[in-house]
Amino acid sequence: MRRCKFCGDEAYVVMRSPKMALCRVHYREFVERKIERVIHRYKMLKEGDRLLVAVSGGKDALATALALKNLGYEFECLHINLGIGEHSQLSENISREQCEKLGIKLHILNLRELVGAGIGEVRTRRAPCSYCGMTKRYLMNKFAVDNGFNVIATGHNLDDETAFLMGNLLHWNLNYLSRQGPMLSESDKMARRIKPLYELTNEDIENYVRLFDVPYVHERCPYSAGAKSILYGKVLKEVEDKSPGTKLNFVKGFLKNRELFPSEDIVLKECRVCGMPSLGEVCSFCRFWNLNKPLNLKVNIVHDDS
Ligand SMILES: [Zn+2]
Ligand SMILES: [Zn+2]
Repeated sequence: MRRCKFCGDEAYVVMRSPKMALCRVHYREFVERKIERVIHRYKMLKEGDRLLVAVSGGKDALATALALKNLGYEFECLHINLGIGEHSQLSENISREQCEKLGIKLHILNLRELVGAGIGEVRTRRAPCSYCGMTKRYLMNKFAVDNGFNVIATGHNLDDETAFLMGNLLHWNLNYLSRQGPMLSESDKMARRIKPLYELTNEDIENYVRLFDVPYVHERCPYSAGAKSILYGKVLKEVEDKSPGTKLNFVKGFLKNRELFPSEDIVLKECRVCGMPSLGEVCSFCRFWNLNKPLNLKVNIVHDDS
């Protein structure tokens, strides 16, 4: 039997990078410390911030909420029902259950109620994943701005980030590379976006959420099956298995050398329909969903200003 490096109790997890075995108590501490360090290193949160955590029902968002709660941060959660059949209903139900268990206030947006159709229910040449990502980002940000939240935390993890990085390097998408990282700073009508799980792998996160008795959605979105990022993830996993620590070095090296990918100076306009920051006259959300008046996502939130 492997024993915990710190207390000698039975090991719960045997890690390869860093190489050590940890019991349940020390594993939990290890993960939460790692998240806390990432939050400090990238100055993700400061006094007075109003934080919204995006929850999908999946393990990553759940781990984000669990860890932030355990670390003593205050926040509310937002779930977006994307209208993808049973998958979305299950995700919404589980998100409700998670937040109830954790005692966190949950807000829910329903895409079909807001724009009349769900993901996959519109005629378009665009792949569902491409306009789904755009739609989620818009709704999260609009909800945050309409309700006075200035920071949004998402569950993106090391596996997501390395797959994304590899995809963008393979295709030399310089513009995407310049904007990739653990944090996107806030600007006018744009909440700061943070990724507290930036240095944790899927496996780390699965082991962490398993410590708590909170359910999560195991199935992937039915549209993600052919996504390129899954292929990149598999390749990276093979490399990581042979050479533990490669993924973390990959993102750390990228961040150190980010000036190699200078960001273009983009001047944002105001969307003619919704007034949110936009590249063109009408933002991609209002254009895609054919809106002629802005969505009002304001809900009654009593902020504790004391
Ligand atoms: Zn221990
Ligand atoms: Zn717009």
